[in-house]
Amino acid sequence: MSPKEFTQDVKDRAYIRQKHACAHCGEKLAVDSGFAHFKKPVELGGDSTLQNCVILCQKCHLQYGHISKWAKFVITQDYPYFAADGLPH
Ligand SMILES: [Zn+2]
Ligand SMILES: [Zn+2]
Repeated sequence: MSPKEFTQDVKDRAYIRQKHACAHCGEKLAVDSGFAHFKKPVELGGDSTLQNCVILCQKCHLQYGHISKWAKFVITQDYPYFAADGLPH
């Protein structure tokens, strides 16, 4: 596994922290149906810690997590279901 991926433990904790809901739309996610997304891209020095992990549903991950496969990352802290302090609303 690449060191620039989240470990299962981090993903599990992120799921629990968000109460198994997508950080953008709040949709409930079945276990392992969400995508662990780097809030700060690895390319910009983001690391694979829980603090840098946000869980998005597939739709939001495609629409908001990443602009396209060329411009890979959208840098945003604007996750309606994910407060700035890292706790779910
Ligand atoms: Zn979503
Ligand atoms: Zn992502």
